[in-house]
Amino acid sequence: MNNVEQTLSIIKPDAVERNLQDEIKQEFINKGFEIQKEKKIHISKQEAEQFYKVHETKPFYNELCSYLSSGPIVVMELSRENAVLENRKLMGATNPEDAEEGTIRKKYGISIDKNSVHGSDSLENAKIELDFFFKN
Ligand code: UDP
Ligand code: MG
Repeated sequence: MNNVEQTLSIIKPDAVERNLQDEIKQEFINKGFEIQKEKKIHISKQEAEQFYKVHETKPFYNELCSYLSSGPIVVMELSRENAVLENRKLMGATNPEDAEEGTIRKKYGISIDKNSVHGSDSLENAKIELDFFFKN
């Protein structure tokens, strides 16, 4: 069965700051993802607020948006079969403490907020999030 999808991945400021982007990109490649698009950017707080709008009502929203705009990030379009779900599996749980061995967040995450990567949580959101960063 061929179910090739595209999903959005972000290497967050804590990981870029520690110069982990090449190592993390290799994790995706090792699991059969193709990096189809990629750019290193530094977004404004307003852009982060727009990106994380689904979390608007959460208590951590303000800090989350400050954090995502605090330094450079690497945004990528990843492609493979079942990319959305496979990326979520490879990332691991939101809190690195709860993430399984071998996942990116377990290996590189520092805390629930500085958890090194973002990944779209559904195919529908993947399309919206890819458009957010890659549509002209
Ligand atoms: N987050 C946080 N505190 C929390 C929950 C989430 O700082 O209690 C941050 C964390 O960086 C997470 C992001 O908000 O990656 C988005 O939360 P979500 O529940 O969507 O987790 P994810 O989809 O990233 O696993
Ligand atoms: Mg999420």
